[in-house]
Amino acid sequence: MSINMTAPSGRAYLAIPGPSVIPDAVLQAMHRAAPNIYDGELVEMMPALVADLKYVARTDHQVAIYIGNGHAAWEAALANTVTPGDRVLVPATGRFAHGWADMAEGVGATAEILDFGKQSPWDMERVAAALRADTGHRIKAVLAVHVDTSTSILNDVPAMRALLDELGHPALLMADCIASLGCDRFEMDRWGVDVMVTGCQKGLMVPPGVAFVYFNDRAEAVRQSLPRVSRYWDWAPRAKPDLFFHYFGGTAPTHHLYGLRTALDMIKAEGIEAIWARHDRLARAIWAACDSWAAEGPLRLNVADPAHRSRAVTSLSLDPPQGTALREWVEGHLGLTLGIGLGMAEPGDYASHGHFRFGHMGHVNGQMIMGLLGGVEAGLTALEIPHGHGALEAAAAVLADMHP
Ligand SMILES: *Cc1c(COP(=O)(O)O)cnc(C)c1O
Repeated sequence: MSINMTAPSGRAYLAIPGPSVIPDAVLQAMHRAAPNIYDGELVEMMPALVADLKYVARTDHQVAIYIGNGHAAWEAALANTVTPGDRVLVPATGRFAHGWADMAEGVGATAEILDFGKQSPWDMERVAAALRADTGHRIKAVLAVHVDTSTSILNDVPAMRALLDELGHPALLMADCIASLGCDRFEMDRWGVDVMVTGCQKGLMVPPGVAFVYFNDRAEAVRQSLPRVSRYWDWAPRAKPDLFFHYFGGTAPTHHLYGLRTALDMIKAEGIEAIWARHDRLARAIWAACDSWAAEGPLRLNVADPAHRSRAVTSLSLDPPQGTALREWVEGHLGLTLGIGLGMAEPGDYASHGHFRFGHMGHVNGQMIMGLLGGVEAGLTALEIPHGHGALEAAAAVLADMHP
C-alpha cells in the first residue's frame, strides 16, 4: 500500500532546520542573466538592502556581508574581535556552541566552555561564577548561541547582557542568530548585543551562500585595538565600502543579492513582529501535537519548558532506531523530509537513531505545519509506534485562534 515516491507527484516539503523552504518569488528573482557588477541596478540596490538587513535584526549599527555560510560568519566575527592568546567564554546548550568554540580555538583563542547539556538553557549562576573568576578580564567575548539548532534550546540573550552589566565585565556579547533570526524575537540594540552573526539560508529564506556579521561601536572599538585584522575578514570596508566590490571583498554574490532583495521585501511586507507572531503560533501548534503524542508512548519534545523552546526548530526523540525509521518512512511515503538528530547521540544510540527534528523557519504557514504533523501522525501509525491521540485536533485548536 506504499505510495511510489520514485515517481513523486505534488510538492515535497523539506522540513529540516536549514536550508529552509525557498519562496518561489526568491527563486524567480534569482533566475536571470548575470548583471553588470560595475554600475546600474545591482550597485544601486545596496543601500536599501543594508538598511533592510538592519531592520530584520532591529539595529541601527553596522552589518558586513560575506560570501559564505554560517561558519564563515563565525570566523569573521572572531577575526575582528579576538587575537591569539585571548579567552572567550562559551555557554553551550548544543552542538553549535561547541562548533563556534572550536572556531575560536582555530584563530588562537582559548575557549572556556560551560556545558549545560542538551536539554537545559544557560545556567546564569554558572556563567556569573565564570565571569567573576575572570578578575583580570582576560575573557574578551561571550559566544552566545541564541537558538542551538541541534537541541532547539532558546537562550536568554538579554539576561546575558544584564549579567555582564551587573558584573561590570567588558567582554563583548556576541550572539549566533543563524537559526533564530526572522523566527524567534531578536532585538540587537535593545538587548545590548555587540556582535551578531547570521546566514541567509534559514529565517531569511535564501539558498545558502551569504552570511552577515552585525556589530556595534563597542565591537568596532575592539577591532580598532587589534594589532591586525585579516584583510579578507575585516568587517570595516564591507560595512563602509568606498567601492561596490568592498562590500564583498571581491565579486558580488550577484544572484543571492536578487534573492535576498525579494526575501527582504517579503519580510518587510509582513513585518518582523508579525513574523515572530506567526512562528510563535505555528510552534505552539507543533508543541500541542507533540504533547498529545507524548501522552502515550515514547515520543518526547527535547525541551520540557516551553519558555526555553525555539520557534524555528523542534528537537524530538523516540526510542532508537524509531527516530530514523520515522524520518525514512515519511520521506519515502509522503515526500516529507525531517531533520536528523544532530549532535544528540547518547551512549547506545551512536548514530542518533532516536532523535529527529522539525525545521519550521522562514517560509512556513499553517497548512504546511498541519501537513507536517499529519505526516508524522501517519508515520507513527504505519510504524506502530505507540502514541497518544488527538494531536492534529490539538494543533488545529492552536491555529483556530490564529487571527490576531
Ligand atoms: C545552521 C547553523 C550554523 C551553521 O551554519 P552553516 O551555514 O551550516 O555554516 C551555526 N549556528 C547555528 C545556530 C545554526 O543554526
